[in-house]
Amino acid sequence: EEETSPTKKLVADHSENVASHYNTLQEVGLAARSQSRIFYMRNFNNWLKSVLIGEILEQARGTGSRPVYVLDLGCGKGGDLLKWRRGGISHLVCADIAEVSVEQCQTRYEDMKRKSHAKEKIFSAQFIAADCSKEVLSEKLDDPELMFDICSCQFVYHYSFESEQKADMMLRNACERLKPGGFFIGTTPDAYELVKRLEASDSLCFGNEVFKVSFQSKGSYPLFGCQYHFNLEGVVDVPEFLVYFPLFEHMAKRYNMRLVLKQRFSEFFEEKMKKEQHRSLMMKMMALEVKL
Ligand code: SAM
Repeated sequence: EEETSPTKKLVADHSENVASHYNTLQEVGLAARSQSRIFYMRNFNNWLKSVLIGEILEQARGTGSRPVYVLDLGCGKGGDLLKWRRGGISHLVCADIAEVSVEQCQTRYEDMKRKSHAKEKIFSAQFIAADCSKEVLSEKLDDPELMFDICSCQFVYHYSFESEQKADMMLRNACERLKPGGFFIGTTPDAYELVKRLEASDSLCFGNEVFKVSFQSKGSYPLFGCQYHFNLEGVVDVPEFLVYFPLFEHMAKRYNMRLVLKQRFSEFFEEKMKKEQHRSLMMKMMALEVKL
């Protein structure tokens, strides 16, 4: 029944929870973080994003050296700013629902620009604090004509699967300003894996000493608003929603998007580690020689 009337389920609006959660998250210094057991996981996620972003920039740029315009949807505190700098993009629009994070992202960008070598041309940027699952981003652009080569949505999209309207608005923001042939790239939890582990558990949660995922019920999974809590050593504990990928893929067709690649992290890792360049980046990042 839920499959045929997914939007009828009444759920509370969690946007404000998400914003206040990320707004109040403390900046953890590297020394403290490196002691944490999640240190390697964060580095792995960072490595994965670096490789993904690096490869998509190559594809977007093609053989020439044309300028690349990027939208970082759910940019957070700007964890990917250095990746965009390394990729030599021309312009970046950063958007996030948590205004404190957007301010920190802007400060990081300005510091980066100030400290850069005079010869290096750092990309221009715009910072927008907005609920991208409710507001139309294109109306907030400084340049109303701006079109993007890439939209990057890293560890964000699952927050929007609270309702069909929100998921659609997020998708619209990601895709409506993409140039023809532009890319939407992202990372999001694997709903199949979450449900598989929940079903295998004899309670409503599963995890280990590092993380815990808890659901409110099991056995039936609505297409939207299927909420769970993700807790990572107390660092992240905010409601998230299962993203049923075939539905997401179908919804994206509305914005003329075609699925090019979908991989689990383990598959991505195995494939990319075959390349020396990605292997050595992984080694360096784990040893903390490189911060990306
Ligand atoms: N993309 C960044 C990264 O990879 O470091 C941050 C990822 S963090 C796990 C998730 C981010 O999504 C948070 O900064 C949060 O504020 C943002 N977010 C969640 N819901 C959002 C929404 N409706 N609109 C814009 N940003 C949202």
